[in-house]
Amino acid sequence: MAPTDIVVVGAGVLGLTTALVLSKSRNARVTLISKHMPGDYDIEYASPWAGANYFPVGKPGTSLQRFEKATWAELDRICRELPEAGIHYQDTAIYGRAKDEGSATGEWFSELVREDAWFRDVIPNFRVLPKSALPSGCTTGTAWTSVCINTAIYLPWLVGQCVKNGVVFKRAIITHISDAASHHHSGNPASVTINCTGLLARTLGGVMDDKVYPARGQIVLVRNEPGIMATVSGTDDGDDEVTYIMQRAVGGGTILGGCLQQGNWESQPDPNLAQRIMQRSIDLVPALAPKTGKTTELSVIRHGVGLRPMREGGPRVEAEKIGGKWVVHCYGHGGYGYQSSYGSAWEVENLVKDIVGEKARL
Ligand code: FAD
Repeated sequence: MAPTDIVVVGAGVLGLTTALVLSKSRNARVTLISKHMPGDYDIEYASPWAGANYFPVGKPGTSLQRFEKATWAELDRICRELPEAGIHYQDTAIYGRAKDEGSATGEWFSELVREDAWFRDVIPNFRVLPKSALPSGCTTGTAWTSVCINTAIYLPWLVGQCVKNGVVFKRAIITHISDAASHHHSGNPASVTINCTGLLARTLGGVMDDKVYPARGQIVLVRNEPGIMATVSGTDDGDDEVTYIMQRAVGGGTILGGCLQQGNWESQPDPNLAQRIMQRSIDLVPALAPKTGKTTELSVIRHGVGLRPMREGGPRVEAEKIGGKWVVHCYGHGGYGYQSSYGSAWEVENLVKDIVGEKARL
């Protein structure tokens, strides 16, 4: 039986997870090509900059919600069974402010902050907090158990899992999606290309998706330990600023964020914003600076900026024939690429099975 040759373009969390899922199929031969790989830090490469945690935001009935719901079980399994992947459980507090309704961040977190959130039966230990336990200015609060992923460990772990399954990795830059097929390691053109190019799907020939746009996120990585993962739906410093705090697994430090600056391509950290992020984080979780309550008590590892690959209408996971060849798109995962990664990759797998037309073969 002839193998199905597949080229995956992109080594972000979507490309790597998709390559891993496809490589488990007996009859698939997978090559992954990418401009950037784990270990690189670049403004065109979102995945290393993410926190990353599982904070579901998909609206009920959307494909994003379906992908997020499906992804929890696998993140939970990895967390329990494979500590070397760099994921750990975190006690989580989510606070909402009524005044953030309709703001950029309020809209982003509108499902996350609900006290009757759809994911209350997906994740463990969900409970509504009493009003007396809420920080000043907050009107809703929930507590539950989530996960935090150390992306510096998890992305290379995904590479290792892929390599173990026979995936061949190559550095390459393509200017048109149709060029990807010729990079298959067999020397023959691939029968299916998977497009996981994130924000660059906006400018890639054959795709040129103008619904894709950046939402800038600025973070500060510190050595201080918060003891809890927490977020608030907004701030009084601007309707695109938000506060979130998460401690990465296995010594990865604590991420303090952030903002959701839509349409902003700036790659350099803004020092004033960094100061606001640090002070707001301490105000929300005083355990970060227990002696003084001041930002000088924070031990900074680095400042960073990542561009979330947003897409009007949500992530695009669908098949399309381009130049007579099948392409399965998987991009536009905004600020939710980790928490929707496995659900998206399984959807790609189903689309590939439909394309090759012989479900039993993959
Ligand atoms: P990318 O990681 O950007 O990867 C795209 C890949 O395609 C790269 O390898 C690139 O080199 C390659 N590529 C593109 N064009 C070409 C080309 N022409 N030729 C060859 N290769 C190409 N998500 C969560 O789930 N939870 C979080 O807590 C979270 N926090 C975040 C915090 C910040 C500050 C940011 C910025 C993002 C956060 N996200 C979070 C979102 C998450 O990081 C993204 O959704 C995810 O990384 C997108 O992955 P991707 O694989 O689609 O894109």
